[in-house]
Amino acid sequence: MSGFPSDGLPGEGYGPETSRRYRARLVVEGGLARLIDETGTVLAEGPARHAARIAGGPSRAVLQGGWVFETRDHDALEAALGPARGDWLRRAETWHPRLAAVVAGCLIGVWLIWRYGLDLLVAAAIALTPPTLVAAIDRGNLAAIDRVLAKETALPEVQQAEIAALASAAPPPPHGPYRLMLRDMPMIGPNAFALPGGTVVLTDQFAQTFPDPDVIAAVLGHEIAHVSARHGLRQLYRSLSVYVLVALIAGDVGPVLENVLLEGNLLLSLAYSRAHEHEADALGIEIAARAGFDPAALIRFFEELDRITGAQGPAWRSTHPLSADRARAVRDLLGQGG
Ligand SMILES: [Zn+2]
Repeated sequence: MSGFPSDGLPGEGYGPETSRRYRARLVVEGGLARLIDETGTVLAEGPARHAARIAGGPSRAVLQGGWVFETRDHDALEAALGPARGDWLRRAETWHPRLAAVVAGCLIGVWLIWRYGLDLLVAAAIALTPPTLVAAIDRGNLAAIDRVLAKETALPEVQQAEIAALASAAPPPPHGPYRLMLRDMPMIGPNAFALPGGTVVLTDQFAQTFPDPDVIAAVLGHEIAHVSARHGLRQLYRSLSVYVLVALIAGDVGPVLENVLLEGNLLLSLAYSRAHEHEADALGIEIAARAGFDPAALIRFFEELDRITGAQGPAWRSTHPLSADRARAVRDLLGQGG
């Protein structure tokens, strides 16, 4: 860096439309430039502009009449005439730590959005979902299910009472209270599923295929765990497009979104992730044990699922991916070893 010399910036002058070179200096005063040769003759006078520079070359000023002044003192010329227009090369040559930090910050931000964007959107949407909407999702979906898929339960009342006891052993519900419901659903078959607001449905077909109260308790505990850990809402939101999530965060629940959330059988077709399944298994057996049921029944259930195949087979499996390590993980949790 150097300032502008008071007796003029030394350099070279070129006459208009010639390649003749003069040893000269440039004086800038009050916005006017004067190009003066070695003998003190003024070669050109008037407004000057700082011209864009070729990389590695001298800095240039263009004066009135087509005179050109060249110097290697880039900073001094810039100080006198301001930055050259379009002179990005010159600026790129200067190291700007703050700019580099901003660029690095932007790159990190882009990477975070690419890597965690959906998770962040889902978390924001969940945090901003009003409890009334979650309750409406439950009501709407249950009504849709009742309209086309379900009838009142035909199970004996004793069995119904046993099931109700589980809700009291569960951790506090995140939204509304847990509602354990029995439904006769011949088209769905043996299944159990949870709606995000706390409604847990067990089909009569499930209770008939797996009459063991401990198994029913273990599976209901697992479903309650999905509610308690908010897996349902997370899974539902993950399946929605980014556009819909943004609309949800903006608080603009339009008619389309309303249909998706309240009317569709979307919740019945969503499969939980493997991590959610393990989490629900661990919490589910705790809930069942606290309610006085045998938590190891979940292992028996997994083994039973492995045996049953075919049309009457477990629909539960399609929405609760069963991996080979799940039974083993539950055994480990219960301290029963391999
Ligand atoms: Zn599950």
